[in-house]
Amino acid sequence: MQLINGTEIATQVIEECKRDIAALAAAGKVPGLAVVLVGDDPASRAYVRSKDRKCKELGLHSVKLELPATTTQDELLQVVRDLNNDPAIHGILVQSPPPKHIDEAAIVRAIDPAKDVDGFHPINVAKLAIEDSSGFVPCTPLGCQRLLIAAGVETSGANVVVVGRSMIVGKPMAMLLMAKGKGGDATVTVAHSRTKDLAAICQRADIIIAAIGRPEFITAEHVREGAVVIDVGINRVEAPGTEKGYKLVGDVKFDEVAPKCRAITPVPGGVGPMTIAMLMSNTIKACRQASA
Ligand code: NDP
Repeated sequence: MQLINGTEIATQVIEECKRDIAALAAAGKVPGLAVVLVGDDPASRAYVRSKDRKCKELGLHSVKLELPATTTQDELLQVVRDLNNDPAIHGILVQSPPPKHIDEAAIVRAIDPAKDVDGFHPINVAKLAIEDSSGFVPCTPLGCQRLLIAAGVETSGANVVVVGRSMIVGKPMAMLLMAKGKGGDATVTVAHSRTKDLAAICQRADIIIAAIGRPEFITAEHVREGAVVIDVGINRVEAPGTEKGYKLVGDVKFDEVAPKCRAITPVPGGVGPMTIAMLMSNTIKACRQASA
């Protein structure tokens, strides 16, 4: 069984980013990322902090805007418009989820698609569907595809089951895997909460991508011998007696699934580190495309 080391592969992506940043710097360009956080959700705050830290570590221009939970829709739209017009900013990300009174879809649509490094704007969703490589692909599925390529997993002709159909992970993952070319050309099945007999469908998969949001949901009965499993899930479960009182587990019951696998990602240390690395990569791409 091969443990797919996301931390190590993310480091390779970051090294590539450093080379790209140096090349841009030689041409007098510094990629800029703005991350907007509305409210004080502790998990979101931690994500925003780590994105800002990674930008600074790479020498990117980083703007972190922390707005109060009382920020109105109009105020947030104005912040987005200002960032759209700021030539030093190439990527804009509004941390999800915003407070309930914010219409998130309207905010995403207000972001300039050329700066939408999260890949959530309808223009970028369409570009993924029509295989236009100038678009931005959501960072987590892009990271999963990169993990498969780096681990030497052949996707061409493979039967892949993606469990989950969210716009953030499941749907773009399926589109990436069915696209033509490297890391694609797969035969993709997308499963969700209405899927009948999920275990039987997963059993036919050469590759399973689990993006469900339910701790340890995928068990040995879902996985055939020799399958590859990518676990996107990040779930906090109580762990009495530990310092934090909780631990992070994936959507896959690792201990019983791993022995059946040809390759599998751990949680933490699998998909997680890739997401932020791909965000840096998308920001550099946005800068390069803006300068072209
Ligand atoms: P969502 O809740 O948006 O989507 C979950 C999907 O799983 C839905 O399509 C849902 O089906 C499906 N689902 C739920 N229950 C079942 C079931 N019993 N059987 C089959 N399918 C089911 O979650 P996200 O896509 O945003 O995230 C998924 C997981 O990935 C979470 O654990 C999240 O924390 C993690 N994540 C990790 C990231 C990383 O950087 N590693 C980044 C983003 C997410 P339906 O559509 O019918 O409701």
